[in-house]
Amino acid sequence: MKRALITGISGQDGSYLAELLLSKGYEVHGLIRRASTFNTGRIDHLFQDPHVPDARLHLHYGDLCNSEQLTNIVYNVRPDEIYNLGAQSHVKVSFDMPEYTGDVTGLGTTRLLEAIRRSGIATRFYQASSSELYGDAPAPQNELTGFRPRSPYGAAKLYSYWMTANYREGYGIWACNGILFNHESPRRGPTFVTRKITMGVANILAGRQHKLYLGNLDARRDWGYAPDYVEAMWRMLQQDRPDDYVIGTGEVRTVKEFVEAAFGHVGLDWREHVAIDPRYYRPTEVEYLLADASKAKRALGWAPTVTFRELVKIMVDHDVQAVRGESRV
Ligand code: NAP
Ligand code: GDP
Repeated sequence: MKRALITGISGQDGSYLAELLLSKGYEVHGLIRRASTFNTGRIDHLFQDPHVPDARLHLHYGDLCNSEQLTNIVYNVRPDEIYNLGAQSHVKVSFDMPEYTGDVTGLGTTRLLEAIRRSGIATRFYQASSSELYGDAPAPQNELTGFRPRSPYGAAKLYSYWMTANYREGYGIWACNGILFNHESPRRGPTFVTRKITMGVANILAGRQHKLYLGNLDARRDWGYAPDYVEAMWRMLQQDRPDDYVIGTGEVRTVKEFVEAAFGHVGLDWREHVAIDPRYYRPTEVEYLLADASKAKRALGWAPTVTFRELVKIMVDHDVQAVRGESRV
């Protein structure tokens, strides 16, 4: 039985990846942070009583800011695969908390790579790199495009990208960067723009909210469906050699187009409900991200299965049902 360790298991991608690996027969270990309230809502349906002899999901308290615990877990669990998905992952928040973002999203990766190097275990490492590395580099972006990050988050991810590449080249660690473009789902955090919009639509439809306040509607993104993207992560670690791959749909839309599609799906006119609040503008914006994922298509046989329209429908339908108290993700 293969063993995997996932940092960020309680997040959107971590929860889908845990599902995928459990369905493939893996034993899955996840790093979670201690909180005063439960923060495992996205993986509660996967929870297994650890007293059951064949339990395959194990959670460990830890933090990417604490190398001691990372080293203990890596050494004791001895995973075949490590997926580093943990991060302060919000671009706007990274402007408010640049130092903390650097610590978790940047140095956290180095702590994990050092844990692997020092423990001497043979493992495969996946680093959750991001299209935010590209910043204002011209679109479409692929593995050869130069990086020009435009936020503390992007800069922290850039550091992690290069540390991953350096540990691969310098120490022979089997390590990949997945440069993933935006991917969404009903499990997306509610302050990312897609989920904020679909939850807003559901609340407005139910009469619980009248206005939805947003920032820059002109930014363009390549939005895919998160479960497709965790499949790509897994495929990267099944290759003969470690490498870096861009993952995205190749389809680009503005934030305004997402808004129109989401409100339109339930028959509402977005112009009656959406207002601009400059507080959601960023000091530096990333205007145009569009993936050229031809390498992943060729080498991994990966392709997205959900279109932009389907993604909007999945998210809006989920949130409408959730407001009615009918849904479970
Ligand atoms: P997410 O939902 O925000 O999840 C982030 C995870 O990191 C959560 O489990 C969170 O734990 C954990 N975390 C935060 N700070 C931590 C710390 N100090 N120590 C340990 N764990 C910590 O993010 P996501 O959308 O699943 O994305 C997964 C990864 O891919 C992230 O690294 C993100 O930056 C990257 N990425 C995402 C996208 C995208 O479009 N979704 C695109 C490119 C790259 P709590 O639940 O306790 O907060
Ligand atoms: P990002 O691409 O990782 O920054 O993902 P987000 O979902 O946070 O933002 C995507 C785009 O939507 C960015 O260009 C934001 O400036 C834009 N945007 C417009 N209004 C909002 C808003 O109210 N919240 C967020 N999070 N983003 C917004």
